[in-house]
Amino acid sequence: MEVYDHPTFQMACRQFDQAANHLQIPEFERPRLKFPKRAVIVSLPVTQEDGSTKVYSGFRVQHHLTLGATKGGLRYHPEVTLGEVAALAMWMSWKCALAGLPYGGAKGGIACDPHRMSRNELERLTRRFTEEMIPFIGPQVDIMAPDMGTDEQVMAWIMDTYSMQVGHTVPSIVTGKPVSLGGSLGRREATGRGVAYLVGRAADTIGLDLKSATAVIQGFGNVGSITAQTLESHGAKIIAVSDVSGGVINRRGLDLQKLNRHVAEKRTVKGFTEGDAISNEDLLLTPCDVLAPAALERQITEKNAARLQCRILAEAANGPTTPEADAILAERKDLFILPDVLCNAGGVIVSYFEWVQDLQSFFWSENEVMQKLFHILDGAFDRVLKNSRERKISMRMAALCAGIQRVREAKTIRGLFP
Ligand code: NAD
Repeated sequence: MEVYDHPTFQMACRQFDQAANHLQIPEFERPRLKFPKRAVIVSLPVTQEDGSTKVYSGFRVQHHLTLGATKGGLRYHPEVTLGEVAALAMWMSWKCALAGLPYGGAKGGIACDPHRMSRNELERLTRRFTEEMIPFIGPQVDIMAPDMGTDEQVMAWIMDTYSMQVGHTVPSIVTGKPVSLGGSLGRREATGRGVAYLVGRAADTIGLDLKSATAVIQGFGNVGSITAQTLESHGAKIIAVSDVSGGVINRRGLDLQKLNRHVAEKRTVKGFTEGDAISNEDLLLTPCDVLAPAALERQITEKNAARLQCRILAEAANGPTTPEADAILAERKDLFILPDVLCNAGGVIVSYFEWVQDLQSFFWSENEVMQKLFHILDGAFDRVLKNSRERKISMRMAALCAGIQRVREAKTIRGLFP
């Protein structure tokens, strides 16, 4: 399907094909599993602060509808394309299936730079996009959530716009919204806490003591900062972090409280004085116990894979490792990989809890949310590790196979209509 052509989509397809080969899925069955069910592209005219009008491109891809509504984030980033969003939607499908959630995968995006837009422009853009999406979304159809460049406020605007259109308040149309609007306790922290929890499981598996471990994190947004904070609370030392503007390193350990204050003021980790500057490229090669890429796709490639110096690679971002890099990492027995569809699943799992709470109008304590989250993550981690060991395949292959197999079974049992 040429319409999705993009390096990230090709990467998701290659991963799918490798898993399909392992599962011995016949060729004729593959396109039905691989290609998105539905994709919508919209033009979004938005009045700018200077009175002019700018037209933005928006995308929403719903990968499959076999197991229930589709679920996935909405990304605001200058380089968002249909192909990238389609790849992210496909990964969401395997992630939801691996975690046993009643969802297909989806993803959305708008090509814009939220950091260069005023709050009013962002609100108008979000409301216009929601308006255009009304025929394609709904609490039983497709539910959005935050991703790179979007946050609780964006979710609140989506919920308000949708609710105004249908004539009553519908909290279950989005997840990751403010708690005061029906959001779940623990959702904002869920992805990063889930990453740190699984790093703990991985550390136990390889006999690494987190209390004396060092960690490096690329991307210091929602996922990266909470991962750092939670790993630190488990005793690990965070020695380097970065964002789109660059990174900072201190081998004695960064003071996260001071760093957070610096980021709150300057909106970047760059310029933090209690550490040295480091580029994003060098940051990935820093010797450490835990490396967590928590920013964009395709950061670990054939160029740097052989030179990573970590013991656990925790894929907090979606798609941070290319298949070429994967082949190199597969040869390295010194490195334990927590693949993205497992590692960052905490976000969608607590999004599922939020949706369930909204549908029932019955809300849980943060402790209950976290216990349920860790229970699901434990089950997924155990299944993936067991399959990886028994079938002698990588953790990524084991995770993808589990997700794909569940979707395949559902499609087979439901049959083909008409
Ligand atoms: P965010 O917008 O809160 O933060 C993104 C961070 O990455 C920022 O610090 C930004 O400066 C940095 N960044 C952007 N481009 C970069 C680059 N080229 N090099 C280095 N850093 C760069 O986004 P987020 O919600 O934390 O999402 C981060 C990743 O985690 C994405 O891959 C997203 O798909 C994935 N993810 C997010 C969630 C969630 O719940 N938010 C759930 C699962 C997966």
